[in-house]
Order: sequence, then structure tokens, then C-alpha cells
Amino acid sequence: MSTSVSCKLNKDVKHHYMDLCQPDQVQLMYVWIDGSGEGLRCKSRTLDSHPKTIQDLRCSFASELAEWNFDGSSTYQSEGSNSDMYLIPRAMFRDPFRRDPNKLVLCDVLKYNRKPAETNLRHTCEKVMDMVRDQQPWFGMEQEYTLLGMDGRPFGWPANGFPGAQGPYYCGVGADKVYGRDIVEAHYRACLYAGVKICGTNAEVMPSQWEFQVGPCEGIAMGDHLWISRFILHRVCEDFGVVASLDPKPMTGNWNGAGCHTNFSTKDMREEGGLKHIETSIERLSKRHKYHIRVYDPKGGLDNIRRLTGHHETSSINDFSAGVANRGASIRIPRPVGQEQKGYFEDRRPAANCDPYAVTEALVRTCLLKEDGEEPVEYK
Ligand code: ADP
Ligand code: MN
Ligand code: MN
Ligand code: MN
Repeated sequence: MSTSVSCKLNKDVKHHYMDLCQPDQVQLMYVWIDGSGEGLRCKSRTLDSHPKTIQDLRCSFASELAEWNFDGSSTYQSEGSNSDMYLIPRAMFRDPFRRDPNKLVLCDVLKYNRKPAETNLRHTCEKVMDMVRDQQPWFGMEQEYTLLGMDGRPFGWPANGFPGAQGPYYCGVGADKVYGRDIVEAHYRACLYAGVKICGTNAEVMPSQWEFQVGPCEGIAMGDHLWISRFILHRVCEDFGVVASLDPKPMTGNWNGAGCHTNFSTKDMREEGGLKHIETSIERLSKRHKYHIRVYDPKGGLDNIRRLTGHHETSSINDFSAGVANRGASIRIPRPVGQEQKGYFEDRRPAANCDPYAVTEALVRTCLLKEDGEEPVEYK
């Protein structure tokens, strides 16, 4: 199995330095989404005070200094001749790698003219979430991913062959059933430390494929927490010399793909008789299938088309369907929700590499703002 070169460095040597006592300063790791809409980038800076909240952080530097910039021409975000992009801190988490008092800082990216970068989908998401705040929209996302060795093959798979057929791996236990649990455990604990609302993990149907769930998160927090949990995943995998892929269909053939099921509810849906509000939302979603497919992966549906085949617990990308306990439908109403007549529903269409800001925004637009055309409405 090939792992990365830095993974082979002597980690005991590093510990010597990490154990040095830290002066009264804080290391901030600024994190942002690059021009691919999928990749994450990060860079660090030192702060002379200890921010407790994101507002704190924004006040700790002379205000314009809390913002930072980077070379957008190296992140697929701008041309070299006009390459400075701004980083605007939006959410702050404890740093599980450098530990307290250091922080991870998730940022918005603005262009030279201070307009949101093309792949900065947080901006409009926040606007839309603000409009429906009194309905208390909750989301929970199930992030599936596949561990790959440095050779690009799923981690632990034979170099010149395939593992046995799917069946024993989902929620499996045992060295012949699950590959890479060390990474899953490290990531889970690191997310809890950071303050990410991670609520569970499980091994998936394809060997070396795993899932973790984040939620319930209200409004814009869903995107913030999922993006930072992805950053932590890539960073943990880096330490182990393994790569986490969010490709929605890493292996063709009789192998499950990777999605990012999105669970959604409002205050009304969670209260007595909420099922009728769930049904109204599903009715609206049925009339806007194409729009949702377009925003459920970063390539306008071209990634998801490999996954949403109608097989391997997916619905067909061309059809909208819904049902209680139906894992072959676009939308599933969990059985307990059907029984209690209230709760939430699950949109099974988003791809593993979706932008959670885009997915949660689309759900709110269709279900709560009652948009129906193919194009999103522009709100001032
Ligand atoms: P599945 O049975 O589809 O595998 P999981 O247990 O993996 O379900 O994930 C369920 C997700 O639903 C979690 O992310 C959880 O936070 C979320 N969730 C639970 N209740 C609600 C709710 N009322 N509104 C929105 N999301 C919810
Ligand atoms: Mn799940
Ligand atoms: Mn799953
Ligand atoms: Mn699910």
C-alpha cells in the first residue's frame, strides 16, 4: 500500500516541537473553498490575543486586518494580473491539530471588487437563511466518502484485484470487513474537540467507504459545520498518508457511490401534525427536480449522473420520487416520521462532493420561499 512521503516522517521528532510551551499568542488557521468549489485551502497567521468568538476575532485585529488576502491565481480563483482575493472570517472552531488556544477560521472569499468569488456560495445562502429564520430550518447531512491510497485505489483493496462483493462491509467490524477505522475514530474525536456538531459515523456498503453525520444544525451553520468537518477529515487523512475522496462514484460497476443525504425540517414539521407540512414540501420539490439536480453537485449534475443510476440505493437522476422508508427514492420519509406524523424528510439526491451551502439554500428556496421556476429568484 503506498502512503504519502510526509506520513513516513518521524512523528516523535515533531512532538518535541509541538510540546514546546506556546507564548501568549494564538495560531489561526484560515480555511476557505477554492475555485473548484470542492477543494479546501488554508494558511496560518499569529494573533497576539485570545479570541473567544468570531466577533472577538473580528475585533482583535484593527478591523480591516481581521480580513486577510491570498493569491487567487493559484487557487483557480482569479487571473495573475489582478490576483488578490479577500478572506473574511465567518465561523471559528477550536483547532484539534494545534489544540487550544489555537483556532480554525472558516472564511468567505471576496474578489478584488469585494463581490463574492464565483464559488463562494455561502453569501447567498446566508441571505436566504435570514429570510426564513423564524421557521427555524434544521438540517442534518450524511457525508459519505472513500479512503484512497496514494495510488488512487481504495485503501486496503488488492492492487491487482477486487475485494469480495458488497454485503459484509456496511456497519462492519473486523479486519476483513472494514478498512481505515483509525482515521474514522481520529476524525470523530477531532470534530467533537473542534465543536463541530458531528452526531455519528458508520462504515458504508463499499469497503473503504465511510459516513459521518453532522446535525441538526440551524440555517447557515449547516454549511459551516460540514465544510470544517471536511477540512478536519482531509487534515487527519494527511497525517495517516491516505486521501479522502468525495467523488460520488469512485468505482464503477457493482459498487455503491457516495452521497450526502440531506435531512431537513422546519418548526412546523417538527410539531404535532407536521407530516402535512412535509408533504407540502415534497409536492413543491417534485415540481423542481431539475433545478435541484443542477445544484446538488459542483458540475451541474455531471458528477451525480454517474451515481444516481436507480441502482445501489439511489433513484434515477431523471425522475423524482418519494416514499416512506424507501431508499430507492429521491426523497425518503423515515419510518418513525411516518408513524409519529411529524419530524423531517431526507433528500437522497445530493452528491458527496456537493456544496452544503448550495443544497440547503435550494431546499429553502423551493420548500419555504415557494419558488417554482427553473431559475432561482434574486432577492435584494
Ligand atoms: P439514515 O437512516 O438516512 O442513514 P442517519 O442516522 O445517517 O440517517 O442521519 C440522520 C441525519 O438526520 C443526521 O444528520 C441528523 O442530524 C439529522 N436529523 C435528525 N433529526 C432531524 C430533524 N428534525 N431535522 C433535520 N435533520 C435531522
Ligand atoms: Mn446515514
Ligand atoms: Mn449512507
Ligand atoms: Mn441517509
